[in-house]
Amino acid sequence: MKIAIMGAMPEEIAPILEKVKEYKTIEYAGNRYYEASYKGVELVIAYSKIGKVFSTLTATTMCAYFGAQKLLFSGVAGAISSKLKVGDLIVATKLAQHDLDISAFGHPFGYVPEGAVYVEADKELIGLAKEVAKEMGKPLQEGIIATGDQFVADEKRKNWIGKTFHADALEMEGASVAVVCDALDVPFFILRAISDAADMDASFSFDEFLETSAVESAEFVMKMVDKLVC
Ligand code: SAH
Repeated sequence: MKIAIMGAMPEEIAPILEKVKEYKTIEYAGNRYYEASYKGVELVIAYSKIGKVFSTLTATTMCAYFGAQKLLFSGVAGAISSKLKVGDLIVATKLAQHDLDISAFGHPFGYVPEGAVYVEADKELIGLAKEVAKEMGKPLQEGIIATGDQFVADEKRKNWIGKTFHADALEMEGASVAVVCDALDVPFFILRAISDAADMDASFSFDEFLETSAVESAEFVMKMVDKLVC
């Protein structure tokens, strides 16, 4: 089995590379991919760079070029739900693109013809995550994640996204990764640890908590890998 572990920023995959210790670096399409053998499975690890375009490229490469059969995303996000505090973990049940807008033609936000507003994540992987959470004694919230090419640091925008997509958290890569995996039939899982509340203090909170929240998410994802291999 080959599993892809993806982040958007170096900080999000650093704890994973630390855990696998030995890996081979492959340069492809302007990015670095790290291949490792871990407890008998093949891993391909990479950060995409920020946003929907780079994450689409990386997810596609991991699945179509490296042949990953499952994709686990680990990273940080801004909270919409008041139940989510810095450091809390949220797993996406489904994802939408909050900045995809052809509503002028009467379509709902996040929709384009032949697409869908939401892409659902793999239920088996979510089930596995719940087992992992129980074993780790860590609360894990499930919810809708909204994605867009925008760092949201504005209460009004955040509330609009929350209301329009019933979203609990927001970030900049999840929904594009979801579209790729759905199209290529690769089961996927998007996990995020909260780094900020997508409000006027978001950039300060992000800078303060990026590393610790990224570690929270990465540790959980590696426990998922441990579960997948046994
Ligand atoms: N500090 C970085 C930019 C970070 S962009 C720099 O200067 O280079 C924010 C990243 O974290 C994205 O990858 C996104 O997925 C996630 N994220 C965390 N909080 C977010 C928020 N409030 N809005 C959008 N994305 C957020």
